[in-house]
Amino acid sequence: MTDISKQITMVQQKIAQAALRVKRDEQEIQLLAVSKTKPVSLIKQAYQFGLRHFGENYVQESIEKIQQIKEDNDFQDPIFWYFIGPLQSNKTRPVAEHFDWVQSVDRLKIAQRLNDQRPTVLSPLNICLQVNISGEESKSGTTLSQVIELASQVSKLPRLKLRGIMAIPEKTNDLQQLEKQFQALHNIYRELQNKYPQVDTLSMGMSGDLESAIACGSTMVRIGTDIFGARN
Ligand SMILES: *Cc1c(COP(=O)(O)O)cnc(C)c1O
Repeated sequence: MTDISKQITMVQQKIAQAALRVKRDEQEIQLLAVSKTKPVSLIKQAYQFGLRHFGENYVQESIEKIQQIKEDNDFQDPIFWYFIGPLQSNKTRPVAEHFDWVQSVDRLKIAQRLNDQRPTVLSPLNICLQVNISGEESKSGTTLSQVIELASQVSKLPRLKLRGIMAIPEKTNDLQQLEKQFQALHNIYRELQNKYPQVDTLSMGMSGDLESAIACGSTMVRIGTDIFGARN
């Protein structure tokens, strides 16, 4: 079996160095381990190495893994599950019932359903609005011009807690172009923070671009490949 503790240490060092470079406290940046397509055995390794925050993209796959982990005595501490994939409205219920966060909310209909389906015994579901920062048609996410309005609607839903925004920038080798997108996201994030004091999460940065994201103010990086290896 592959040993992923080395990869985790490397990612943690990368985060610390990126923070240091721009004089930020590394504690401000949460590492979200993206375990989509990867087996519970690898999640267990990451857990045993101290990680508690995991991101998943596919409803059926993630619910099966979450159930399996719930019944596994090797997992004693609570794990925080983040849904970060595209979400269809007919699949919101299991997500509302099993996740702690949804970072891919891009329209009111999805938010409304998650709100209505969140079990009352659980605390409100933490929400990030996904922003389509590059405007690419293939990308999900709300547009820049609509995000403030969507935030206002989501903030009124009692079973949801608006925590911030999430985005995947357009792939580019042009660092300036990349940072322009991250900077624009940081600006919206600040605007939301001014309106909603509970907003504390700017989820941006993946395996290939976490340094730039941290330089531009990211508070959460979502790392899959660099921790768990390439996906098929
Ligand atoms: C898969 C995925 C990631 C992780 O990407 P890597 O490049 O493997 O680190 C992060 N965020 C989202 C939304 C994803 O779907």
